[in-house]
Amino acid sequence: MLQHIAKTLGDVFGKSFIFRTWDAEFVVLFPNTILEVFMGRCTRVRTSLQRRYPKQIRIGYTWADGVFSARNLVREAQSIMRCENVQDLSGERTAFLEEHAMHRDTPEARQTFVAYFQPKVDMRDGSLAGAEALVRGIDSMGNIIPPGQFIETLEKNGSIRELDLYMLESVLKQLSQWKSQGLPAVRVSVNISRFTLFNPTSLASILAIQSHYPEIPAEQIELEITETAGDMEKATLASIVDNFREFGIEFDLDDFGSRYANISMFSSIRFNTIKLDRSLVNDLPDNEISRMLVENIVTICKNFGMRCVAEGVETRLQEAALLKAGCIYAQGYYYSKPLPPGKFEKEFLQKGN
Ligand code: C2E
Ligand code: CA
Ligand code: CA
Repeated sequence: MLQHIAKTLGDVFGKSFIFRTWDAEFVVLFPNTILEVFMGRCTRVRTSLQRRYPKQIRIGYTWADGVFSARNLVREAQSIMRCENVQDLSGERTAFLEEHAMHRDTPEARQTFVAYFQPKVDMRDGSLAGAEALVRGIDSMGNIIPPGQFIETLEKNGSIRELDLYMLESVLKQLSQWKSQGLPAVRVSVNISRFTLFNPTSLASILAIQSHYPEIPAEQIELEITETAGDMEKATLASIVDNFREFGIEFDLDDFGSRYANISMFSSIRFNTIKLDRSLVNDLPDNEISRMLVENIVTICKNFGMRCVAEGVETRLQEAALLKAGCIYAQGYYYSKPLPPGKFEKEFLQKGN
């Protein structure tokens, strides 16, 4: 088996940069190429080896442009490879978390993470229009920890990317499970930190993760990013978004209208969905300016084929005001809190919503 794997790798990537790093682990470096060629070769290796050794091998790959550290690249590919083996969403310790705990000696690192789902509804008839995946930590006592308590730490210590990729993988795995149960397909948005997005290897990592779930079309996942400030970032972000779009990955602009409305970002980057921040929705029923703002944002969205989703809807009055302003989709406690996958499935997928 090892001989066959080595031969396949040599045939696909050439023999110069193949290393056997462990008993049964190989690392291949494939320099001076373009992403499409690289991805094509990775797919060839995966198809060939998985057909011959189903469920016996794991593959992880990642990509960098410009200056990079081979060591980090290999480490990243390894953590993606280990994600292939994540068996249990409901709280078993995963390879990712073990690594996390080993490298980062903080209480936060010892939590397990799971994806909760909060429905997005069509306010006209209450039907399910999608969902947002929201991370929850589970500590050793089984307590649920909200993301507010650990996201910032993960952003600071550089491991937010691992969490974001882990969440994407968890969501795809869940969608695949729902599909195999014959449940309706639901479009899910996954939050992705700017740190993850600006990391040049993330696109390849995301594509690699998606390639494990060919049964889930790329359009069934959206990535939510928050508003950013600064012209530099905006230009970079625009090109990143364009890059991802080529591979069918769409973006939602999260928290639109919070802090200061970043109109230029709204106008220069093509988002699939604009999510109206809770602060705009909150006082909508009694604030004329909020109402006009929302009406205008909704009109722009309509004209440019973007979906507009109102966040943090808590009351019937807010729903009525949103509908009056032309906004159709909403998410908020008025409909449901974020739910663990089993509950979400029971309440929103099995009812044939
Ligand atoms: P967000 O993306 O703006 O997510 C919406 C937050 O509003 C969620 O908080 C949700 O539980 C809460 N929410 C939903 N409906 C209502 C409502 O009607 N009223 C009120 N008051 N709140 C509502 P949560 O789950 O605590 O998440 C907080 C933030 O953590 C998220 O804000 C997001 O920025 C971040 N986050 C969550 N999951 C991930 C993840 O997987 N990766 C990254 N990078 N960030 C994440
Ligand atoms: Ca979000
Ligand atoms: Ca939001």
